[in-house]
Amino acid sequence: MLAALLAAGVGAPAHAAEPLAVRWNPGAQDCDAARPAPLQVHRYEDGTFLLRQNPCASAEANFLYLLIGAERALLIDSGAIADPARMPLAATVMSLLPDDATGKLPLIVAHTHSHRDHREGDAQFAGLPDVEIVPSDADGVRRHFGFAAWPDGVARIDLGGRVIDVLPTPGHNDNHVVFFDRSTGLLFTGDALLPGRITVDDTSAFEASARRLAAFARDRAVSHVLGGHVEMNAAGELYPMGSTFHPDERRLALARADVLALPGAFAEFNGFYSRHANYAITHPLHNLAALVVLALLALALLAWGGVRLVRRRRARRVTRAT
Ligand SMILES: [Zn+2]
Ligand SMILES: [Zn+2]
Repeated sequence: MLAALLAAGVGAPAHAAEPLAVRWNPGAQDCDAARPAPLQVHRYEDGTFLLRQNPCASAEANFLYLLIGAERALLIDSGAIADPARMPLAATVMSLLPDDATGKLPLIVAHTHSHRDHREGDAQFAGLPDVEIVPSDADGVRRHFGFAAWPDGVARIDLGGRVIDVLPTPGHNDNHVVFFDRSTGLLFTGDALLPGRITVDDTSAFEASARRLAAFARDRAVSHVLGGHVEMNAAGELYPMGSTFHPDERRLALARADVLALPGAFAEFNGFYSRHANYAITHPLHNLAALVVLALLALALLAWGGVRLVRRRRARRVTRAT
């Protein structure tokens, strides 16, 4: 019975303890004075590393994930900074890779989606031996993972004794995917689900993805849900946009329950903004359009008030003259 459950990927996750008890460097208000290290590495367990770009290095403060199998390794997202002098990403990742008989273990660099803060670091890996960079554009993602009927289907990456599922989740971005590591039960959700602002680009695509993701998680032993950013403090207050300082930052991990609740949370979304305990959902384009409409209304009101004022003064002048 247990073997059958494990084979199906269902059952108690083996790594649900406290390997995420890590205090991430919060960045600083005065980054020039504080000069924190640009990249923080946390070993989750053997062969699984969580990397965080310091908020002072980039206000996006991306989380990147390195999963190492017996035959190859996978880096999920390459972060916001191309310049190795500012962000020693490739050097750090390569130093974490074990050597095999012929050199370093081959590395695949893949992305949750094509926003620049998740792929700028690709430049540092270009031309390195035994490194394959998966394209992050729509065609490249579909072709590389063999999605014939995007966004349906689940692809898999075999790292050698360690299989990663790849699930299409467009909505935040057309090419968004999440990764599920069957070994640790970690679900890497990029910007589709994170403790912060979940920005929606395509409402109906996001709604379908939320349902697809929840159905996926329902049948699997998801131990922790790790997104691409943390944008709120422990009290659930969002940091200002572009903040380089994350005091009392909320813990990184969301739970399987958050994935299961996502379709319901999205059902409450009014197309502009909705607030939930562990995240906010927002549609920047809709909000921008609403702001433009409000600004135009305010201008129209001002103009109307101005015209009325001029007319009244003229009328008064005419009355006085007669
Ligand atoms: Zn994004
Ligand atoms: Zn992002």
